[in-house]
Formats: sequence, structure tokens, C-alpha cells
Amino acid sequence: MEHPYLSIIIPVYNEESNLAPLMDRLYPVVKETGRTFEIIFTNDGSRDGSLEILKRMVQQYPGVRVIEFNGNFGQHMAILAAFEMSRGQIVITLDADLQNPPEEIPRLTAEIEKGFDVVGTIRQKRQDSLFRKLASRIVNITTNKMTGMKMNDYGCMLRAYHRNIIENINRCGESTTFIPALAQTFASNPTEIEVAHAERAAGESKYSLYKLIRLNFDLMTGFSVVPLQLFALFGMLTSLLSLAFGLFLLVRRFIVGAEVEGVFTLFAILFFFTGIIIMGIGIVGEYVGRIYQEVRKRPRFVVRKTYGFDEQ
Ligand code: UDP
Ligand code: MG
Repeated sequence: MEHPYLSIIIPVYNEESNLAPLMDRLYPVVKETGRTFEIIFTNDGSRDGSLEILKRMVQQYPGVRVIEFNGNFGQHMAILAAFEMSRGQIVITLDADLQNPPEEIPRLTAEIEKGFDVVGTIRQKRQDSLFRKLASRIVNITTNKMTGMKMNDYGCMLRAYHRNIIENINRCGESTTFIPALAQTFASNPTEIEVAHAERAAGESKYSLYKLIRLNFDLMTGFSVVPLQLFALFGMLTSLLSLAFGLFLLVRRFIVGAEVEGVFTLFAILFFFTGIIIMGIGIVGEYVGRIYQEVRKRPRFVVRKTYGFDEQ
């Protein structure tokens, strides 16, 4: 079989109750396009019945393919694995929990056909907790500032990529990454469209607060060294200020005499700076950790088995 025109990529981690409803909506939409297609699910080490359902879908629906991971390697690794095995001219990613309506897919492919190479999406009426929305705002703003990129919504995974972008991403081999930002660095003609957003159909978010923080660290440190530069700048500024303060105290000693009061104020200021120093060590540690992970050159993910790819 020759290469399909569309590759739809969906990471799956414990989504057993969402898979059938997803397929009921997704499959007609993709068929409707009249193009050749493949739908690649990556089972990211689910501990529920997801894999069984996916295996059945491979039998039932032509064009469905499944990559089975050996464990839980995270959403972004799941997508990268599918990127490597995908063949489509246009590659589309979406979540399995029906937060991204499959009905938007034709609008995404239309944008690529217009000549854009990355189609980002902005979630209209985003159905997530206030906390998540606020966190995303901060992340979007700081990421744009730090990386010099321009995107309104880094978080939405309903996205379309031209084959060229996928080839470039496949050459990267990074073990901690954030796909929308990575794709943006290769994009020569990106665009963003508004898409609908729904509440998670069933189950709960696979991202704990800790995982979210980790992901955002990947985003910050994976695409710029601005945090290090800001930290160094802050260090210089503080030493200049304390130099000035020292001089002031010296002069004061000759005019007014030695000072004793305000010891605890001094402690407060000191603790503040100790906090900053620890934070700085943490930031440096983030980068060192990343370097360590990259130089070890361990496989980013382990595929146990694939289903439905033989017919290619
Ligand atoms: N996911 C995954 N591996 C993980 C966590 C999530 O493959 O370790 C998948 C999950 O099944 C879903 C998508 O990534 O298809 C987005 O996850 P989720 O909806 O939990 O994230 P949120 O919408 O809360 O950001
Ligand atoms: Mg979700």
C-alpha cells in the first residue's frame, strides 16, 4: 500500500471508556474526507483495558494501527513514537479524551493545504479548571517571551503538521521535549486557528500537579537558556546594590556611628536571598539533568509490539 494522505495520532493512557465514543465520532469524519488515512494509537502503558479495545479496533477498522509501549513514557514520547512510524502527508495529533473534537480535523487539513506547515489551535471556551487556565496563560506568555516564538496556546494538542516538519522532528532524538514548541522551531509558515474544546468525556486528567510542573520545566529549559541568563543578571544586580549599601554603611559609620537595630530585618532580607540562591541552583540543576539525560543516550521509549502496520 502506498503512503496514506492523513495520519491521525492519538496517545492513550488509561482511556478505556473514551476509546469507543472517540472512534464513533472520529472514523466517520476521516472517511468523509475521501482521502487515504491511517489512525495510529500509542498505548502508553495503560493499566486498564485500553490495549484490548485498541487491538480489537485494528481488526474492525481498516487503517487503524497501534503501537504498544513497554511502560508509561508520557504523552509526548507516545506522540513522537507515532511520528516515527507515520507516513501521512499531513499529520494530525489529538487527545483520546474527546476534549479535542474530531470534527475539527477537516478545518486543520484545509489550512495545511493552503500552504501552512504547522497549524496550531486556540481553544475556544476552554473547559478546564480555573487553575489550569491561569497556569496556561502564564506559561504561554513566558514561553513566547523566552523563546521569541509567537503562539497563543501551547497546550492544545489538536494540531496539524506538514510531512516536512515531522521529518525534522524525527531527526531530533530529544528525550525530554514539548512537541508544539519543537514543531514551532522548524515551522517556516505556521498559523493558528480557533477550535472548540470540550470537557474530558470520562476518567480524569492524567496530569498531576507534579507532572504539569515537570512538563513546564521541559518547555522552559528545553527551548532557551534565558532562565540562566536572568539568574546571572539578577546576581550582578544584587552585588552592585550590596556594594552601594556597604559604602553607605561605611559613610554612615563616620557620621552617625555603628548601627545595631534592624537585625531581624536583615535576617528577612538574608532569607529572601538564600531562597533565590537555592532556586538558582535548582535552575542550573534542571539544565544539568537535561544534559545528563541526553548524553546517556538511553532509548526514549521502548516499543513492545505494533499492530496493523504490516499491511503497509
Ligand atoms: N497521555 C499519555 N500518557 C501520559 C499522560 C497522558 O499518553 O502519561 C494521553 C492521555 O491518554 C490523553 C492525552 O495524553 O489522550 C492528554 O492527557 P490528559 O487529557 O490527561 O491531559 P489534560 O487534558 O488534562 O492536559
Ligand atoms: Mg484532556
